[in-house]
Amino acid sequence: MDGILGLDFGGTTLKFCLAADGQLELFDPIPTPKDAVALRLALAEVLKLVNAHKSINLTGVGIGLPGLVARGGKALFLPHLMELSTVDAAQIFQNIFKVPARFDNDANCAGMAELKEIGPCESGYEAVIGIGTGLGAAIFGPGGIAGGFSGFSGEVGHMCIERNGRRCECGRRGCWEQYCSAGSIRSQLDAAGRVDVEVEDVFRRWEVNSEFEDLVDEFCFYLGLGIANLVAILDLERVVLTGGLARCLAGVLPKVRSHYLELVEGAIVRRESEILIGSLFEFAGALGATYLWNLVDG
Ligand SMILES: [Zn+2]
Repeated sequence: MDGILGLDFGGTTLKFCLAADGQLELFDPIPTPKDAVALRLALAEVLKLVNAHKSINLTGVGIGLPGLVARGGKALFLPHLMELSTVDAAQIFQNIFKVPARFDNDANCAGMAELKEIGPCESGYEAVIGIGTGLGAAIFGPGGIAGGFSGFSGEVGHMCIERNGRRCECGRRGCWEQYCSAGSIRSQLDAAGRVDVEVEDVFRRWEVNSEFEDLVDEFCFYLGLGIANLVAILDLERVVLTGGLARCLAGVLPKVRSHYLELVEGAIVRRESEILIGSLFEFAGALGATYLWNLVDG
């Protein structure tokens, strides 16, 4: 049976899935490899797991990477995986899987997968924001993904929103994802000595007894702010939230929407942009990576 393997390199875990014969198989994530040696080992493990699972004839591999991925697939700048920015990943994938590999930005992959589930909005102008260790977005127009001049659009997690703000792995300060991601909440918990608390628990405990009010309020403010900025630039009809952290956000969505409405220009005259939570969460990127093989132009 022919199959396509989809991989999504998150800042913390590598998610992967197999699409074969109209069926989808999701595997348990493994830690994200951070250098070339670890990458070879991780991919060999992925191949072993896939082969053990079914007798599959792999025909292609799709890969989502967190950062600047040029059209044609070369990874150029991966803030969370700097050592992988410099390796010839395409060659390593080819050597291990023995089939061609196609690369794209992870958020673009996640966006394609979410919209395949829910269908495009009426105008086509929308963004799918993936929130996990970091934050990225896929920007859509009526023709599909609006990739930009080099294919780098949607790197919104690295929009600078605070002068002299928190340091970011991209080498600068004040990036949006330093205020609005699982990674940013993790950093603040660690700094406060709360290593015992999982990021997901922050939202659960806030819903139950209003614990972590400051953390949750900051997160919601900055999510509302970022969405307001995106709507100001792109006049979006819809914003879809995905990625692992989106699982935790149903309870805070009214708070996010309220900050968004305070911060967006001309809220009273705009048609209100819909903000909703997708359905694929941490697996959106890996699933979307398999779709790189459905694209006409690759
Ligand atoms: Zn940054």
